[in-house]
Amino acid sequence: MANPKTPKPVNNRLRRVKRWALGLYRLGMIFAAMLCLRALPRDEGRFDPERVLPLAKEFITEAATLGEPKDGLYPLLDSEGNSVGWASSTAPQARKIQGYSGASELLVIFDTERRVKGVHFLASEDTEGHVKKVRDAEEFWQQWTGKSEAELGSFGKPVVVSGATLTSEAMARGVAARFGAQGMDEWFPSELQIKDVVKQFPLADRLSSGKVQGIYDVWAKEEKIGVVLRSSRMGVSARGYNGTSDVIVCLSVDGEKILGVGFLGSRDNEPYITDVGNEVKYADGFAGKTPEQVLGEDENDSPSLFTSGASYTNHAVVGSVKEMLRRYRAVESSGGFPWKSACACCWILLGVFVGMHPLGNRAWARKGFAILSVGAGIFLGWMVSQDQLVGWGMNGFQVSGILPLLMLTAVALVVPAFTGKNVYCNRICPHGAAQVLAKSLVKKRFSLPPRIHALFSRLPWLTLLVIWGLAFFASGIPFAYFEPFETWSSGFVAFIPATILTVGLVAAFFLPQAYCHYGCPTGALLKFLTASPTAWTHRDTVAGGLVVVAILRVWL
Ligand code: SF4
Repeated sequence: MANPKTPKPVNNRLRRVKRWALGLYRLGMIFAAMLCLRALPRDEGRFDPERVLPLAKEFITEAATLGEPKDGLYPLLDSEGNSVGWASSTAPQARKIQGYSGASELLVIFDTERRVKGVHFLASEDTEGHVKKVRDAEEFWQQWTGKSEAELGSFGKPVVVSGATLTSEAMARGVAARFGAQGMDEWFPSELQIKDVVKQFPLADRLSSGKVQGIYDVWAKEEKIGVVLRSSRMGVSARGYNGTSDVIVCLSVDGEKILGVGFLGSRDNEPYITDVGNEVKYADGFAGKTPEQVLGEDENDSPSLFTSGASYTNHAVVGSVKEMLRRYRAVESSGGFPWKSACACCWILLGVFVGMHPLGNRAWARKGFAILSVGAGIFLGWMVSQDQLVGWGMNGFQVSGILPLLMLTAVALVVPAFTGKNVYCNRICPHGAAQVLAKSLVKKRFSLPPRIHALFSRLPWLTLLVIWGLAFFASGIPFAYFEPFETWSSGFVAFIPATILTVGLVAAFFLPQAYCHYGCPTGALLKFLTASPTAWTHRDTVAGGLVVVAILRVWL
């Protein structure tokens, strides 16, 4: 006779169906949020009459309404429908032009002959103090008055505001970009010339673009005599006290020796630019070193560059040099067969295996794979992050070139959704693996009191909410600053991710997986996929509600 206390046999098939249905729902919520980001209306040139008209009236008092746009300009109409002028925003062209810490949007008002009646501030993501300085500078706003529409497309030498140079110049660049000037988002537009490298290559007679953008080959009488790396063209932009610098590194033909470093320009402040520029020019602290020697130097205390009082600019120059060398090394070592991608795919697949197979639970396998993951993180720099997911949502992505990252992301999201196993956090994530190794080095461990643990455990969820909330309701936020992962790919260049990384790793020696438990929004997202794989939770309800809010944000 059956024992009445024996639990009912578990209906495995039903459990599996439930798990897959929930997995689909949860993945669907993440993809829906990304799709909503993609569908967000971008106010590219869209005018809000209520916002624009009062400002336009300051220059054209008869303006009563806005008509339908023509040639990207909105007619200003009087109360009887007659044209009394034109209005245009500098968006969307100005959006790519960063000032001190963000882009700005201005309103340009023309008379009926399309001559500027006035330019007005509309909005800015830049720092408030700088924006205020510019808004108060009358001379800045009058520089366009009376100019024709065609003249606005010529950048020339704009009036900029002292103490807010970057912000005001970015605004002026935005006006020029809106009316046809090209390359306004490029702050170091001049091409690399022989004179820039003649000190290191006196015989050079030609420069040609190398394997990738920003890497140049130097030639003398048709013989290659060296290589030059240029930061602004390689997309390397370590920030100094007040802006980025354009730095070149000259290398011997085999890339094994640094012949010198040059300073082509900077958006930083004087006197730092001149001090660092002179030192780079005359002291030549980098010359004669190997790339490995420089890569091993501390950016904050580099023996290659030591201008006193210009530590931010120093830091930016040394950081740029190191990052360029790192990328150059990566390009050089990846020539021919894309073995870097192949290695990445092997690492990911092995991670899935050790994450799913019982063998992966053995101590030696855990530790061995953690070492491998940390190595992969340092070598490849690929990690799943909120910055990446939000960026893919906002801007989409091209599959070519990011196949391993796509595979990593798919593994991180899809495997937990359908198996309930978070193989990414448990095995693959290099930052998680580094914390596992840190924990294994210290015997004594601490844990937080239960109440504080419960409180701090909410932080990753809160950060996740803040990131996605900002993605939907604000713009121009560097989401990479919420996590440490950028530092794995670009080194200790950006202060905030580097600080999060350092604090998290130091804490991991004493509090196991401290950052994972108390800081990581990506970990929280993956927990959402794995927690209670067969039961609806309050998080599912909240996720559904947030996606509804996102849909309303898109369509209302
Ligand atoms: S919680 Fe974050 S840091 Fe930790 S393993 Fe997961 S993704 Fe990596």
